[in-house]
Amino acid sequence: MGCLVQPFSLFVNQSSHELLFLLFVQKKSMAKIGINIATGSLQQQEMIVGIDLGTTNSLVAIIHPESRKPVVLKEHDGNALVPSVIHFGEAGLVSVGDEAKKYLVAEPHNTIFSVKRLMGKSYNDVRDYSSFFTYKVIDDNSESLVKVQVGDTFYSPIELSSYILKELKARAEHILKTPVTKAVITVPAYFNDAQRQATRDAGRLAGLDVLRIVNEPTAASLAYGLGLRNDETKTIAVYDLGGGTFDISVLRITGGIFEVLSTNGDTYLGGDDFDRAITQYWSAKLGLTDEELNANKNIAQELRLLAEEAKKQLSSTIEFKGSIAGEELVLTREEFEKLAKPFVDRTIQCCKNAMQDAQLSITDIDEVVMVGGSTRVPLAKKSVAEFFGRALHDSLNPDEVVALGAAVQADILAGNNKDFLLLDITPLSLGIETMGGLMDVLIPRNSKIPSKAGRQYTTQKDGQPGMRISVYQGERDLVKDNRKLAEFNLTGIPGMPAGLPKVEISFLVNADGILVVKAKELRSGVEQTIEVKPQYGLTDEEVEKMLLDSITHAKEDIKTRALVEAQTEAQQILDTTRLFVEKNKTFLLQEEIEITEASMKDLAQKMSSTDKDAIQAAIEKLNDISRPYAERLMDHAISTAMKGKSITE
Ligand code: ADP
Ligand code: MG
Repeated sequence: MGCLVQPFSLFVNQSSHELLFLLFVQKKSMAKIGINIATGSLQQQEMIVGIDLGTTNSLVAIIHPESRKPVVLKEHDGNALVPSVIHFGEAGLVSVGDEAKKYLVAEPHNTIFSVKRLMGKSYNDVRDYSSFFTYKVIDDNSESLVKVQVGDTFYSPIELSSYILKELKARAEHILKTPVTKAVITVPAYFNDAQRQATRDAGRLAGLDVLRIVNEPTAASLAYGLGLRNDETKTIAVYDLGGGTFDISVLRITGGIFEVLSTNGDTYLGGDDFDRAITQYWSAKLGLTDEELNANKNIAQELRLLAEEAKKQLSSTIEFKGSIAGEELVLTREEFEKLAKPFVDRTIQCCKNAMQDAQLSITDIDEVVMVGGSTRVPLAKKSVAEFFGRALHDSLNPDEVVALGAAVQADILAGNNKDFLLLDITPLSLGIETMGGLMDVLIPRNSKIPSKAGRQYTTQKDGQPGMRISVYQGERDLVKDNRKLAEFNLTGIPGMPAGLPKVEISFLVNADGILVVKAKELRSGVEQTIEVKPQYGLTDEEVEKMLLDSITHAKEDIKTRALVEAQTEAQQILDTTRLFVEKNKTFLLQEEIEITEASMKDLAQKMSSTDKDAIQAAIEKLNDISRPYAERLMDHAISTAMKGKSITE
């Protein structure tokens, strides 16, 4: 079974990659509108919510159906944040959020916090931090994924996260008075596939269809409207200081694609460190030792809560006054900043590292986005603004901005966005394998669906009875770097000289996104059809990765393609020339045969090199030698067989 050969040199350069992934167009048709019976307001039939599933706090946001602005969902108490804490009480009673947080100190064994740190992790991954967790993290099999033991029950981090998501879903349904089944969930940019999959699974377990997993820094940028124009190229630093983690991400947006240039940070650095520093400072003032604090959990808990209160207040005042057990406690902004400075300095060092990894200098950064509750601390703002030498995006609530951006993304997915609509497009190119393992694209990426394309191919060998048709998806020039979708054989091609059969391959991507591939030999009418789902099993992140890979490898791909093309051409010329000489020996001079064979030997040798120019030169030479006698001998019989071959040019 031979490979496909195109009859004419239709070698288009497929490597001119433009970075358009999200295709934005003016909205043409209205989305379906429904009326919310409870509120009387108009709303889209399908509400897709954005969820920030945080280490410390989680929350939900939507695009307000009337104002079309992203808003966080708040309960009557005006609180949007749900602490990411789960408490397992008596008789199987489970509480989540503020209610569960009350048990953190009193019932450390059955009050689970920071479960996000365990997502997609094995015990080996978290071993060094085991003392951080006050609950039991199972360590019997260090290779498998961690489980948490509460009483006699074992919970996976996925199950635990699903409790938080269920709570968020219930709240959203309570506030919106409508079922919520679809969501976009955010994760840190550095989350690997296992962690992303775990997050998806947690969503599914909570009864949510997770339409997309979005990077937190990407969502934060979207909340500020960055990346919503397709002609925009920007480099953005996203500084995210949360409760227990610090992340700095450097992103580049080009025409709607967010590319993570670098990430850095510290998974054990955040607002909790500020609280601890204040607690220690006050304990020293009160003359309390660590043993005394350990022995008196209530005082410890009270101190910790008061410390957090002081820290928060000092973001807007310059002095805090409180009391514990009749003792007055004071903290000034100045004192707090002294305590916080070492931690803030560490975040700045991470920023330096991130810039270095991205190979950028400060002046390359166009925007700085502040994320995370702890960026309310004035010292953090000041230090970041100084480091980047520019004004910060900090007008939105920093602990809400990720959820707000997730809502923006959800809205685009729902097709509700007034100005922009994410069209149904093929996110990756579709094509087939041709000689030398090259990718021949029939439907380029970003084609509108439905889409149709066809091209003619021919056989490589005389009497070739069939053809293998391998269908691929991706942007790379060699099929081995792309994703194989399907393969089938077109058999029963009647015996014909090489180059004579006309095999038409047609691709149709129908409205459901299903690809129908048809191969038909036009002279005999033999045909074969196959159907594939190109996006099946492919996540958005994988699609994005494939696109970015093609950009990273563009240069080397162009080179490889040129070489493979030269080698393929050389092989074809060698085959046809050999056949020609064999068939026409009697009409050729001995001298012509010798010089041809020498030239063929030279070409065969050059062919195995990686020097494309040398191969092309050898092809030219062989052509020059054979052209005079080929022209001389071109009688009717052979002219048919030789038609379209490069030997006659
Ligand atoms: P995460 O992303 O880790 O889930 P958040 O972004 O919600 O966390 O940030 C939580 C942290 O923000 C906590 O340490 C909290 O004390 C801190 N924080 C919240 N409000 C303020 C404030 N006004 N001043 C200083 N820190 C604050
Ligand atoms: Mg966060």
